[in-house]
Amino acid sequence: MKILITGGAGFIGSALVRKLLSQDKHTVINVDKLTYAGNLESLNLKDQENKYHFHQSDICSNKDMREIFDHYKPDSIMHLAAESHVDKSIGGPESFIQTNIFGTFNLLEVVREYLNRHKKAKKDFRFLHISTDEVYGDLAIDDEPFNERNAYAPSSPYSSSKASSDHLVRAWHRTYGLPILITNCSNNYGPFQFPEKLIPNTIISALQGEPIPVYGTGEQIRDWLHVDDHIEALLRTLEKGKIGETYNIGGGNEIKNIEVVTRICNLLDEFNPTKSDHINSHEELIEFVEDRPGHDKRYAIDNNKIKRELNWRPVKNFKHGIEETVLWYLKNPNWWKRIFSEEYRIT
Ligand code: NAD
Repeated sequence: MKILITGGAGFIGSALVRKLLSQDKHTVINVDKLTYAGNLESLNLKDQENKYHFHQSDICSNKDMREIFDHYKPDSIMHLAAESHVDKSIGGPESFIQTNIFGTFNLLEVVREYLNRHKKAKKDFRFLHISTDEVYGDLAIDDEPFNERNAYAPSSPYSSSKASSDHLVRAWHRTYGLPILITNCSNNYGPFQFPEKLIPNTIISALQGEPIPVYGTGEQIRDWLHVDDHIEALLRTLEKGKIGETYNIGGGNEIKNIEVVTRICNLLDEFNPTKSDHINSHEELIEFVEDRPGHDKRYAIDNNKIKRELNWRPVKNFKHGIEETVLWYLKNPNWWKRIFSEEYRIT
């Protein structure tokens, strides 16, 4: 298959590109604007005839997207490009509205027009829209996990922009018959995640002997899933998912933020004992800071539909996954140190 991936220089997109190329049977066209979060060093690839092509383009550009579709004639698109950081969306929501809503609209229109001109391609074409469990909003401790029939109730500019994009994708299926699929996944972790997110931020702050910020009392609960399990679920959805359907993806692995942070500190105490005079354990670096406005208390995913219908199961348990992730950041300081120096940008 010729698969067009948007956001392939980001955390999840780069894991997807690496996986597809390792299978050696697909051509990957990676379209990424290379915002602050896009990093080609997560891929370390050169363009290769019939295998991999990279385009630095904005998904909001109708002209660029049309040209890319006309040139490569992809068999499917996996749409991951997004502004993805909740805190950033609170400080400045505009780019979230632009990329997540307008950018998705633009892609839907380009695909609609492309499939109108290539009617034969439509039967097998898939538009897989990658979204988040945050669209469902806040869960109380005794609420049932989110399933695909839950109403949307997003809390942040980020989650509401993703919810809007999900609605557009569904509407383009219902109104124009676009062959779409949607996935809503819980929090991912793993290698190559941008340092702004909880897990890499904790590891890197601790390694540098800096305070580890934890919102409120750290009691917020998230359902953590290793990025490789997410990728497997996406590929299965692309291959076997039923057109028009939504699949929730989650690890059934609810953990409080403070427990995640403490576990990382304990692992660092073991793998990288602190040499500082001021602290005996990395846990002493934890600093509780004012809670994020509108902070959701709990997310949890009911993943029964994707298990039942697509035979997907998460395989990495958190204990091993987080250990591997901490070791990855310990072994790859160049990757994250260059991000702070911004040398990784090619623009
Ligand atoms: P990320 O921030 O690491 O990567 C996003 C990528 O999109 C970057 O490479 C960036 O350069 C690119 N991009 C941003 N704006 C663009 C534009 N206008 N045009 C082209 N490229 C642009 O994000 P991520 O964590 O890899 O998330 C990928 C997708 O998965 C997002 O849609 C996100 O909503 C969704 N998701 C993420 C998680 C998670 O835990 N990280 C969980 C569920 C769903």
